[in-house]
This record gives sequence, C-alpha cells and structure tokens, in this order.
Amino acid sequence: MEKIQNYINGVFLAPKKNVYFDNIEPATGKAYCQIPNSDDADVELAVNSAKEAFPSWSGMSNELRSDWMMKLAEGIEARMDEFVSAESRDNGKPIKLAAHIDIPRAVSNFKFFATGIVHYSSESHLMHGVGVNYTLRKPIGVVGCISPWNLPLYLFSWKIAPAMAAGNCVVAKPSEVTPYTAYILCKVMEEINFPKGVLNIVHGYGQNAGDAIVRHPLTKAISFTGGTTTGKAIASIAAPMFKKLSLELGGKNPNIIFDDCDFDEMLSTTMRSSFANQGQICLCGSRIFVQRGIYEKFKTAFVEKVRKANVSFPTDPEAHLGAVVSRPHMEKVLSYIELAKEEGGIVLAGGHQVFLDAPYNNGFYIAPTVIEGLDYMCRTNQEEIFGPVVTLTPFDSEEDALRMANSTEYGLSATIWTRDLQRAHRMADQVQAGIVWLNSWLVRDLRTPFGGVKSSGVGREGGWEALRFFTEAKNVFVKY
Ligand code: NDP
Repeated sequence: MEKIQNYINGVFLAPKKNVYFDNIEPATGKAYCQIPNSDDADVELAVNSAKEAFPSWSGMSNELRSDWMMKLAEGIEARMDEFVSAESRDNGKPIKLAAHIDIPRAVSNFKFFATGIVHYSSESHLMHGVGVNYTLRKPIGVVGCISPWNLPLYLFSWKIAPAMAAGNCVVAKPSEVTPYTAYILCKVMEEINFPKGVLNIVHGYGQNAGDAIVRHPLTKAISFTGGTTTGKAIASIAAPMFKKLSLELGGKNPNIIFDDCDFDEMLSTTMRSSFANQGQICLCGSRIFVQRGIYEKFKTAFVEKVRKANVSFPTDPEAHLGAVVSRPHMEKVLSYIELAKEEGGIVLAGGHQVFLDAPYNNGFYIAPTVIEGLDYMCRTNQEEIFGPVVTLTPFDSEEDALRMANSTEYGLSATIWTRDLQRAHRMADQVQAGIVWLNSWLVRDLRTPFGGVKSSGVGREGGWEALRFFTEAKNVFVKY
C-alpha cells in the first residue's frame, strides 16, 4: 500500500519512528494508503528547517515571494484532475464539489495572497509639527498551521498562503483523516523547486504531531481551524507561551426565513446551506427557523426535495450527497439523530444510514435528515452535529427568531431571508455571528473578514486580517 511521507526541508521523509497508520476511503470503508504517525521528533526537524529558511524567505522582496506563490497555484492547476479526484476520494465528497469548489478555491487562495502581498501597505500617523509615526509589519518567524478534514486543501491553503506571503516559514499539519492533497502539494513544491524549508508538512494525529506544533517554543503563532474543544486545548497551551492565536471553531448556524422572502430562491439555497458537503461545512445552517405563516408550505416543499436528494458514491456525477468523512463521524451523527428522537423530535426525512451496493457497501452514507418538534434549547439544537441533519422550528416575531438564533454558545454565521430591507439590516445587526448572509448563502469575497464570535473562535482570517495576523506591527516615531 502506498505510504505518504512528511515533507521537511524540501525532502520527502518517513516519520522518525517509521510508524504509519491507515487512511480509510469513506466511500468504501477500506484503507487505501498509509499516513506517517509523526511526533515531536518530526516536528522538531520541521521547525528547525523552517527556522533556517526564515532569513532568506523573509528577506526576499514581496514580488519574488509572490512569484513563488503564483508558481504553487499554477502547479496545482496543472494537476487539477489529480487533486480533484484525490480530494473526493480522501473526504467522500462528490467529485463535482471537489472540482467546482475545493480545488479551484485552493488555487484562488494562493493567487489571492500572492497578489495581496504586493499591494499590502502599512500605516503612518502624522503628528503635526512634532513628527511622524510609521508602522512596520514584520513577519513573525516560524508559524504553525493546523487544519480540519471537511474542506481539506481549501482550508489548509487559506492558512499557509497568507502565512508564507507575509514572509513566515510554516510547519503545517493537515487533518490526519484527509492528508492526501497536502501530500500532492508537496510533489508540486518539489517539481517547481520551491525554496526549501519554507513550507514543512508533518502528517499524523492531532494529539501527537498537532500538539507538538502547538507546544514548540519556536512556533510563535498558531492558526487553527477545527472543533471548539480542540481549540480550547490549543489555547490553554499557547496562551501562557504568549503565542499569537487565530482560532476558527465550531458553529450551529441559524437559517432564519421570514414569510415575505423569495420562496423559490430561498428553498433551493436552503437545500445547499443544509446539505452541501454532507452538511460538513462550518457555515451550513443546521437550525432552520421559519416564520409561522409559511411554516407548513416550507416544510412540505423542503421535505419533498430532501427525500429526492441522491446519496451516492462520490464519483457518481448524479450524487447530491456523498459519504461522510469517517465511521466514527458517521456514528456520531447517527447518535445525534437518536438523541433528537429521545428529545421528542419527529423525523420528517432521512434519519438513517444508507447502504449502497458493492463496492460501496461498507461506506459511510447518511440520508439527509430533517427533524421538527424540538425545543430550541435541547441538546440537538444546541450542540454541533456537523452532518446532514437540520431541525425545523417555527417562529412568530423578529424577537422570537433572534432569541432562538442567539441561544447557542456558537456564533459563526447566520442566513436571513426577507424582502423587508429594514428588517434585514436590523436582524443582521442583532444576530450574534461573525458572518451574515442576507438572501444568499456562502457567497465569499476573499477580502472580507472571516471568523466567528462566542465559542466559534478568536480572530479573523481573510484579506488584510490574515496578513495582519501573520505579521507583527512595529511603530517607529521620527521627530521633526
Ligand atoms: P478537530 O478539532 O478534531 O481537528 C482539527 C485539526 O486539529 C486536525 O488536524 C486535528 O488532527 C488537529 N488536532 C486535534 N487535536 C489536536 C491537539 N490536541 N493539538 C493540536 N492539533 C490537534 O476538528 P475536525 O477535524 O473534526 O473538524 C471539524 C470541526 O472543524 C468542526 O467543529 C467544524 O465546525 C470546525 N470547522 C470550523 C471552521 C471555521 O472556519 N470556523 C471551518 C471548518 C471546520 P487529527 O485530524 O489528527 O485529529
């Protein structure tokens, strides 16, 4: 079986202890390659390599660094089909999703920050008659980037691209569940002769390799996307070491639908915002609140559409939903469906595992699931499920909708459907979320701040926010 390797100082390396574990294909439930079980010894190597590369990478002009990053983007484009099928195979997502969203977006991330860095300027503050302050924004040094499995290369590149563009050298760990496209990225780096040590990729479990990146005294900033519990553990280690921290964590996003909305557009977008990527996008709207006047109409139309959604193997061009990412994750999602029933929920669609024919009969498939009749404060409505499961709850007034929408510990994103302009802005202002979509969902401009409030995270990614995170500001005052 193929063994993927770490990539440290421009060289493919086996983990020091030479221990590997299986990478399981969600579509079939079978192992198809092996992943290094790296630990602190491998991270030590990677950090040293990044440290050595830092003076020359950070000393390079922004234009030259930008050129290198563009070459990385072009290298991905040149292997587009390979990246697309690897992402779909590793994650279980429909291949058309990987082709239209994941890999093109990873390319855009590199291009965006490659061009962004040549337009990045710092501030000056004039004190009339006294002097002038100017701000230098300097790269931090060695930084750690840790990313999850749901949008593997997309979220990995969303971190490493700004980190490198700003002049840092990186030690990065993709999720152990979906490491393959990060491995192909290393092949691209080798092919284009990317400067050695600038990006070091260490594969393995979060508790070993991830933890070692966070604890290493030389990783001066940690950019993490993943679950809120892991985020807490990382913060408890990094905060006393005074590391810069960017934490993009879980969500339980409300989708608030008023009875004056454009019904057809809302309905088709709500299908996507509920079940795209099997509901495994941190921005999916898992709690659907519908104004009572159209509740029954919405319920009937939505459930009919959901029942028709095609759950199939990822390479099936007709698949609306593919496999969820792993057996433990499938079991977790199914256990939440059981919990919902115990809490008094009525399953209107789905609610069960889906068994496909061989060779997919051991894959991890779940029917898209709609549940109603739950109290908004019950566990099903408060805890992140991160799968193809949504709940329906009616509401009467704006106040009602806001009280329920804001009732969770999370605050990542919210979607609001209404044609009433004033109400739309009022709701956008009041809903507790870092990102709000009015009459739309997942329209992304890479320049905008991205992140959540409450337990959904600390800090913002995207645009200048990311370049600010990956640099230290130094103020210099010059007396006239
Ligand atoms: P996890 O928190 O389990 O893992 C995320 C990453 O952290 C993985 O690479 C993981 O490695 C690693 N990790 C795990 N434990 C540690 C540790 N102790 N120290 C350092 N690193 C560690 O999240 P998932 O991968 O399960 O991703 C799903 C979660 O991500 C959901 O909660 C989702 O909401 C959130 N998410 C948030 C987004 C946002 O922008 N706010 C976007 C996308 C997802 P390993 O895989 O080996 O465990």
